[in-house]
Amino acid sequence: MTTNAQNDERPCILIVDDERINITILNALLKNDYRLMVATSGEQALKAAHTGQPDLILLDILMPGMDGHQVCRKLRSDPITHNIPIIFITAMGDAENETMGFALGAVDYISKPFNNAVVKARVGVHLRLKRQNDLLENLASVDALTGVPNRRAFDQARIEEWRRCQREGMPISLIMLDIDQFKQYNDNYGHGAGDECLSRIAKALQGCIHRPGDILARYGGEEFSAILPGTHKEGALQLAERLHEAVSELAIPHEHSLVSSQVTISVGVASTDRTGEVTSQQLTEAADRMLYQSKESGRNTTHIIEL
Ligand code: GH3
Ligand code: MG
Ligand code: MG
Repeated sequence: MTTNAQNDERPCILIVDDERINITILNALLKNDYRLMVATSGEQALKAAHTGQPDLILLDILMPGMDGHQVCRKLRSDPITHNIPIIFITAMGDAENETMGFALGAVDYISKPFNNAVVKARVGVHLRLKRQNDLLENLASVDALTGVPNRRAFDQARIEEWRRCQREGMPISLIMLDIDQFKQYNDNYGHGAGDECLSRIAKALQGCIHRPGDILARYGGEEFSAILPGTHKEGALQLAERLHEAVSELAIPHEHSLVSSQVTISVGVASTDRTGEVTSQQLTEAADRMLYQSKESGRNTTHIIEL
């Protein structure tokens, strides 16, 4: 049966070995249960791991040119590949190489000549562990109530995107926003309705974010924040307007708000194209001050500053 690679959701394994015979054996053993990629040199392996993002790598140690240990070091030091588990392929009884492999961060080894049952069992165990790790990683960065990224994910993205904008000389904008009179909402409609309202607003806000690199997160409580790499002040202001509109279109009744008969938000925006001089913390604090001004000036509005 042929499988369409794009719809094939089976775990993907990269096999790296300079000897065809080993590849042929492993291929025969694993092809029914997994998607397989093959590389016959260290250089090829690095490329394949980078672009193909396999779930597991079976890596031969003895190869001409770049050997398995060097490949392992490079994979582990690259943030794109560093979470991919590596199983070394060693010669039987090569204790020295095995110890060295673990020291380099390999999760296991399998020895040649291959024992079919052992190879299958080890591969199965490490793919299960990888899936659990991915799941935990995902849980740790997503807010449970709203399903949008949480503060932890936001702080991490802010550091990375800030560096990227610095390197590439791009502007960057940051948005902080807060639901207006939300205590009143909870007090009058109940905490369950409050949760539901938060969740709907999060989804509406998220729906306004389209560009790769942009991230919107629940910053805490009824406060959300967005980081917009490569976006200057005019673009950020446009997005802020869209966020107001998206919340307004939800038309969630709020009879106890002093601002409007529906739920509204207040927004603060800070932009800079001087990432060399300004710090990301200063930008965050500036967006916070703008949010405070929006609250002070009657809520349901946006204030913006350029640093
Ligand atoms: P303002 O217009 O000045 O922002 O007033 P506010 O009432 O929105 O602000 P305040 O900080 O006084 O109250 C925030 C409220 O948000 C109080 C808190 O109970 C509620 N809140 C925070 N997190 C959650 C949550 O996860 N679920 C629910 N239902 N309410 C939450
Ligand atoms: Mg509020
Ligand atoms: Mg608040």
